[in-house]
Amino acid sequence: MHAQRSGPLRPKVLITRKIFEESIAHLARHCDVDANQRDVPLTPHELIRKLQGKQGAITLLTDTISDAVLARCPDLKIVSNVAVGFNNLDVKAATERGVMMTNTPGVLDDTTADFTWCLILAASRGLVDADRYFRSGRWKGWGLMQFLGRDIHGKTLGICGLGRIGRRVAKRAKGFDMRVLYTGRTRAPEKLERELGAAFVDKRTLLKESDIVTLHVPLTPDTTHYISTAELTLMKPTAVLVNTSRGPVVDEKALVRALREGRIASAGLDVYEREPRPASGLTRLKNVVLAPHIGSASMETRLRMSNMAAENCVAGLTGRRPPNLLNPQVLKGKYKRFTKVTPEQK
Ligand code: NAP
Repeated sequence: MHAQRSGPLRPKVLITRKIFEESIAHLARHCDVDANQRDVPLTPHELIRKLQGKQGAITLLTDTISDAVLARCPDLKIVSNVAVGFNNLDVKAATERGVMMTNTPGVLDDTTADFTWCLILAASRGLVDADRYFRSGRWKGWGLMQFLGRDIHGKTLGICGLGRIGRRVAKRAKGFDMRVLYTGRTRAPEKLERELGAAFVDKRTLLKESDIVTLHVPLTPDTTHYISTAELTLMKPTAVLVNTSRGPVVDEKALVRALREGRIASAGLDVYEREPRPASGLTRLKNVVLAPHIGSASMETRLRMSNMAAENCVAGLTGRRPPNLLNPQVLKGKYKRFTKVTPEQK
């Protein structure tokens, strides 16, 4: 229904899964659009089949765009991901094949930071378990010793990865009068550290000293199982672990063991190693709050992400430089073999 005004010069775009109508309308003004408006991922076979003859693809984080997929879709010029994380895209392979890839950074920072705080609060105060208890009809009235959680104010918050989202999480900690530590590959500028009141420490110190550890690193080979048994052992038995980054950043089996054995107090998770399936035993634990990957899921933010992805794709297919290009190398040098570069893109 969106493939109106078909013509030989209009590029063809596949939208792999349901996105906002407003974004589809923007794409349809410039391209012929094949939109899968079912909110279920295409199978790898369907994905490759539907990408035949398409120059653009709007992908979700549930689509894997590997070198094997790119090899079988020779018409593709741009893959526009509706997410800031792009571990589902093989950017290196795309660069070698001259295919542009884009993401949606910046528009979801506050929303994801807000949700990180939802998990910090809920996991520290046992809110979800208390809610379940109330609904079950077992609550017989107030009691001094019921549902004793742990304070957040005045404690030490440890942020792993002080990037766009990590910084917004740090900013919110000020309201809770917390000591803020952070660790990562690179130290932030001194001015930013002062503004956020955040001190750079090594990973080991952060894990040993923090009451709450929150993860904001991207998923890469270096950050896979960034938190595993050794790291969980360093943490305080009263500590809370929160993950709103990507599931494989935490060794989920090791986390289940640590939570079961009380080696850390609780956890708040938004992301999982093998989504949508949790590790065995995870859902039976009372000391973990489990969200179904909704960190950026506010109406306003998801619409911004969807529109940003559409604009990246339209730009790439109409001779402009996509605003959020992950591999600018495709516009120059030896990788330029496929993409037609206009003066504006240079
Ligand atoms: P970002 O701005 O790129 O920040 C990532 C931070 O992690 C940077 O400080 C980076 O340091 C650091 N880092 C990278 N590799 C590292 C390593 N090997 N060891 C330690 N630190 C490392 O990314 P962002 O926009 O904040 O997003 C972070 C991640 O959150 C995304 O990649 C995505 O997977 C996830 N996310 C999840 C949701 C959700 O719905 N749950 C929503 C949005 C984002 P450098 O400065 O040295 O690169």
